[in-house]
Amino acid sequence: MMVDIKLKRTKVSEIDSGLIGKHLFLQGWVRTCRSQKGVTFIELNDGSSIKNIQLISNQEHALLTGASIAVTGTLVKSPSPKQPFELQMESLDLIGDADSSFPLQKKGHTLDFLRDIAHLRPRTNTFGAVARVRSRMAFAVHEFFQKRKFFYVQTPVITSSDCEGAGELFELITETKNFFGKKAFLTCSGQLNGECFATALGDIYTFGPTFRAENSHTSRHLAEFWMIEPEMAFFDLKQNMELAESFVKHLVQTALEECSEDLGFFEERYEKGLKARLQIVLDRPFERISYTEAIDILLKSKIDFQYPVEWGKDLQSEHERYIAETVVGGPVILYNYPKTLKPFYMKANEDGKTVACMDVLVPKIGEIIGGSQREDNLLKLEEGIRSHGLNPSDYDWYLDLRRFGSVPHSGFGLGFERAVQFITGMENIRDIIAFPRAAGLCSF
Ligand code: ATP
Ligand code: MN
Repeated sequence: MMVDIKLKRTKVSEIDSGLIGKHLFLQGWVRTCRSQKGVTFIELNDGSSIKNIQLISNQEHALLTGASIAVTGTLVKSPSPKQPFELQMESLDLIGDADSSFPLQKKGHTLDFLRDIAHLRPRTNTFGAVARVRSRMAFAVHEFFQKRKFFYVQTPVITSSDCEGAGELFELITETKNFFGKKAFLTCSGQLNGECFATALGDIYTFGPTFRAENSHTSRHLAEFWMIEPEMAFFDLKQNMELAESFVKHLVQTALEECSEDLGFFEERYEKGLKARLQIVLDRPFERISYTEAIDILLKSKIDFQYPVEWGKDLQSEHERYIAETVVGGPVILYNYPKTLKPFYMKANEDGKTVACMDVLVPKIGEIIGGSQREDNLLKLEEGIRSHGLNPSDYDWYLDLRRFGSVPHSGFGLGFERAVQFITGMENIRDIIAFPRAAGLCSF
């Protein structure tokens, strides 16, 4: 029988016991279908929630996993303790059939296998849950900054400046030779552009795609990821740390409050104690430890790290994780790194050796935020550019921000996927973005 499409569609996430006795119209995909002796049980998922709804029919239907259907029926109390309610089906429309070659016919595929079918993996519990949490977190990012009267600025994806001088840029090749009249790249940070707006509008943030041609095959690096970069005028490093801490806490709190069902799924399937781990983030102030103190702690630990620990050398993931997981047992902010390890734009400290920077480290992941107070003194900034082997004339526009009405200002970058990885407990960053791009990986 054809479904009466004049009925308004209800999403599974909207169904609660209050709708018992109501006539509903549902659309979604069949997860399982069992039909015998004139009765059919269908588990329907419509993507709105981790939960399926059970549909019951007094007829036999032969439906395969993956098919899309539309149904009407009455919501009734379920006799089974497995679910509070189910839909007594009155009509069923097969919208799009699926056959037995549907790759998700059975449960329990490995994440590796699912990465190879990135176009279908959103139909699994895991990737549906990641996508819903990710969406809610993106909204929480805007909520956090908009509430604080920050302006959302869209900085360019194509750029001619190498923000860090790090040489991890994707260069753009065009068929028209020399299209821009100079080399152009995919951006690896919106910060320098963001500073132009912070020194005009006060407080701004960017939230966009970011590209780094890193060859590191780690569970924390992508070639294309999303970064949130707030930039604040009249802001020093201490205020920067406070904002970063509030920001991470806002994301975690929103996840606990608004994504409880999906987090419950991650807790059950992937990480025991996930919600308790997140609760600790809210309950405690983030510890602050200077780079120099961190080196002392690492040396005193007597642990035989793979990478040597020495003042002036960068901290590796193993060091960061040791500090966050073993020493602190929660998020920690490391600050004031040696200037030789950091980009040219960070503000020089008075000791002549370190710069006013900070990294927020969390258990399981290591760094999720990197930031700094920016050098606002023209001469020192020019000096910094030169000492990094770059040419001040290439940064003339950036130096203008210090020539005219320069102010102390600060900002940071949060890797969006790393944040969602931290919140869901997923092991690999490639499972946090819909279509991952990394060295050797660019399908779909
Ligand atoms: P790492 O040392 O972990 O490679 P980074 O110091 O190069 O990171 P920043 O330049 O400080 O990173 O960038 C700010 C934030 O962007 C990082 O704290 C991290 O959360 C995120 N990020 C950086 N590189 C990547 C990447 N390749 N994939 C995903 N997120 C990244
Ligand atoms: Mn960093």
